[in-house]
Amino acid sequence: MRIREIFTLEPKKQILAVEGWVRTKRDTKNVCFFELNDGSCLKNFQIVVDKDKTPHLAPELTKIATGASVRAEGELAASPGSGQNSELQAHSLTVLGESPADSYPLQKKRHSFEFLREIAHLRPRTNTFGAVARVRSALAFAIHRFFQENGFLYIHTPIITASDAEGAGEMFQVTTLPLENIPRKDGKIDYEKDFFGKQARLTVSGQLEGETYAAALGKIYTFGPTFRAENSNTTRHLSEFWMVEPEMAFCDIDANMDTAEEFLKYILSYILRRCGEDMDFFNLRIQPGIIDNLKRVIETPFRRITYTEAVEVLQKAPTAFEFPVSWGIDLQSEHEKYLTENVYGGPVIVTGYPRQIKAFYMKLNADEKTVRAMDVLVPRLGEIIGGSQREDRLDILEKRLTDMGLKKEDYWWYLDLRRYGTVPHSGFGLGFDRIVQYVTGMANIRDVIPYPRTAGSAEF
Ligand code: ATP
Ligand code: MN
Repeated sequence: MRIREIFTLEPKKQILAVEGWVRTKRDTKNVCFFELNDGSCLKNFQIVVDKDKTPHLAPELTKIATGASVRAEGELAASPGSGQNSELQAHSLTVLGESPADSYPLQKKRHSFEFLREIAHLRPRTNTFGAVARVRSALAFAIHRFFQENGFLYIHTPIITASDAEGAGEMFQVTTLPLENIPRKDGKIDYEKDFFGKQARLTVSGQLEGETYAAALGKIYTFGPTFRAENSNTTRHLSEFWMVEPEMAFCDIDANMDTAEEFLKYILSYILRRCGEDMDFFNLRIQPGIIDNLKRVIETPFRRITYTEAVEVLQKAPTAFEFPVSWGIDLQSEHEKYLTENVYGGPVIVTGYPRQIKAFYMKLNADEKTVRAMDVLVPRLGEIIGGSQREDRLDILEKRLTDMGLKKEDYWWYLDLRRYGTVPHSGFGLGFDRIVQYVTGMANIRDVIPYPRTAGSAEF
């Protein structure tokens, strides 16, 4: 039986078997206690071995050590000790795999997150990383549930792509060309000889392909890995991360903001309801006050401001920013934090960004200076969602592409959507790892994904 299930049982006399890994062991003259964890929940389950009553278990007992895998069978009993209501009085014990104390790196003591990153294959056996994994899984489920309950279709967009969604570079190339002898034609790399017959890369976003399905099926979402070769060494950026991207036809920027807000509140409520034990742990050990903080976010309407208003507010700020503020700059993390933490005290949606700092596909406003972009900013983290109403007018979209130095021909299929039955449509992207970070309070994004990939690091 999984430990999570055992803790829901009345500690009435019954026989059961449990399997897990030893966290701690305490030996006295007559009794041996050890705690098992099987990953089903945060709490450990205590196994008690009465040495007098079960002398035949003595050989196995010597093998019990932190990290060992064990199967124990016995009788469930009320626990006299504090902290748990039941324990197992073992009458049979098998150590499936020993764990030598002199070499096992996860002895019972506090390890730094930096150290644990070096043993990322073992860190899920710690309280923190077990809790992160459970919350991450529950968040993924909540996301699917929100969209499935609201009529969105889950679409699998390609990971290998020949289009650059952002028109911004910083992509990883996918090639089978021999690097030591790259074929060239007229001085340039001859991609016709490459695997796909053209230059291919790892996707930075599934949005453009997502739009094609929204333009047929109405409401879709993607949820998959994305890749960015940006060399930014921050606590919020990974080179490989998971992104959630809904796209909705017949939807303008206001409905887009409503959806983003409803969506965030839904998944936060789900986690507070379903991951109580793990959230209590984060609240106590990682980010004190985080539960109240998330509850407030769920209860409060998100503040909505324009970029121009944001700039005015920032310019009046008594604090000096590292990056000075003027109309036209991209908001930096320090600005986003100031707005959410110092000015509005909660999430803020900023719309109407200058066209120069946003992607070509965002709908141009009548002022021709700003686009219908929306960024959802949250305290502690800054940008968690980036989205927009998409440009649905063919001529303007073509002009925007040209202005940004992109080739119309490369986007022929994307432009077809504006040629045939174009509709107002909108969508957004949520960085999945960022929402895990936000919900758990973990300071570094490297600690919310099992095997983080960042510049200079792809171990495991
Ligand atoms: P930032 O300014 O934080 O780098 P961005 O403007 O590059 O974000 P978008 O291109 O709008 O982000 O991507 C959509 C979402 O994906 C972001 O809101 C963020 O949650 C997430 N995201 C972007 N880049 C990364 C990254 N390198 N690692 C993890 N999540 C990311
Ligand atoms: Mn970025």
